[in-house]
Amino acid sequence: MATRPSPRPDVAAIPRYVPGRRPTPRPGVTTYKLSSNENPFPPLPGVVEAVAEATVRSASYPDPTCPDLYEALEHRHPGRDLLAATGSVALIFHALLAYCRPGDEVVFAWRSFEAYPIAVAAAGATAVRVPLTADGRHDLDAMLAAVTDRTRVVMICTPNNPTGTTVSHSELTAFLRELRDDVLVLLDEAYVEFVRDDDAVDAAAVLEEFEQVVVLRTFSKAYGLAGFRVGYAVGATEVLDPVRAVALPFGVTEVAQAAAVAALAAEDVARVRIDALVSERERVLAGVRAEGWELPVSQGNFVWFPGAGTVEALAAAAEDLGIVVRAYPPDGVRVSIGVPEANDRIIGLARTVRQVVDH
Ligand SMILES: *Cc1c(COP(=O)(O)O)cnc(C)c1O
Repeated sequence: MATRPSPRPDVAAIPRYVPGRRPTPRPGVTTYKLSSNENPFPPLPGVVEAVAEATVRSASYPDPTCPDLYEALEHRHPGRDLLAATGSVALIFHALLAYCRPGDEVVFAWRSFEAYPIAVAAAGATAVRVPLTADGRHDLDAMLAAVTDRTRVVMICTPNNPTGTTVSHSELTAFLRELRDDVLVLLDEAYVEFVRDDDAVDAAAVLEEFEQVVVLRTFSKAYGLAGFRVGYAVGATEVLDPVRAVALPFGVTEVAQAAAVAALAAEDVARVRIDALVSERERVLAGVRAEGWELPVSQGNFVWFPGAGTVEALAAAAEDLGIVVRAYPPDGVRVSIGVPEANDRIIGLARTVRQVVDH
C-alpha cells in the first residue's frame, strides 16, 4: 500500500470556507454580487495612488511594525496595543492558535461568521455553538451557561454576520462581569462603522474595564479594501503578545499598509459612503418588510431573510434577476447592500417571492 504524509486526523473534519459566488455573466443584464458584504464603491480617493507609490518598494519585505498604519490608528485607540494582520479573519485564527490547547472549548453564537468553526477546528479546539434567539440575536445567558472549565475563548460578533443584530453595551458588560477573567473574549466588530444603535457597544469603555477582551476591526467592509487583506486587533499588550508570537511573519504587505493608511486619511469620504449604505439598508429593510417579510433589524451592510422554507426560492429568484445572494439553507439568506439599482431589484424580488410563497 502506498503511503503518503498523513495530516492530523481531525483536519479531515474541518468545514471548508465557501466564498461568495460571482454572478454568471448574462447578455443584456447587469449582474451584481451581493454575497460577500463587499463595499460597492470604488477605492477611496488617494488609495490607488498610495498603492502605486508603495509598489515601487516591492522588492523589499514589508515593515512588520506597520509604523504609518499604527500611527494613523493610535489616536483612535489611545493607550491600547494594536496588531495588524491579513484581514481580521487571520487574527481569529492566530488568537485561537495562541490560546487553545487540543480539546479546549470555544463558545460562539450560531449562526454566525462561517470562518469561526473553521478557525476553531484548525486550532484543534472544540466548537461550542450556542443557538441565536428566535429573532437572530446572541443569547448571552445561554452563552454564559455554555462556559465550562474547558472554555478558553468566547467569540462575540456584533453586528452579527449574517443576521445583522447587535449586542448592546449593557448586555455585553453584564456578560463580561459574569464571565471568568481567564477566558479570552474576541469581540468581532467587522461591521461597527454601520451601527446606528443608541446602545451600541462602546469598545473603548469595554477595553478599559475588561483586559480579557480583544476587539477585532477590518478594512474590508466599510473602507472597501477587502482585496488588500488588512484587519487589526486592539487590546492589552499582555493579551496580544501571544497572538503576535504565532502570526505569520510579514503578513501585511507594504501595499496593503499604504492602502489602509490612505483609506484612513480619506475618512470624511468614507463616512459619506457609509451613511449612504446605511440609508440604503434602511430603504431595503422598509421596502422588503412592506412586502410582508419579517426581517430582523440590521446594523451591518447587509440584511437577513430568515428561512421558513424560502431560502431556495429566494436564491433562485435572485439568480434569475442577475443577483448572487448568500443562501445558508435552511436558516436564511443574507443579502449585501449594493448600489441603489441592485437594492431595487432585491425589493422587487421580495415582492415576487412573497407572492409565490404565499400561494
Ligand atoms: C468580513 C468579516 C470579517 C473579516 O474579514 P477580513 O476581510 O478577514 O478582515 C471578520 N468577521 C466577520 C464577522 C466578517 O463578516
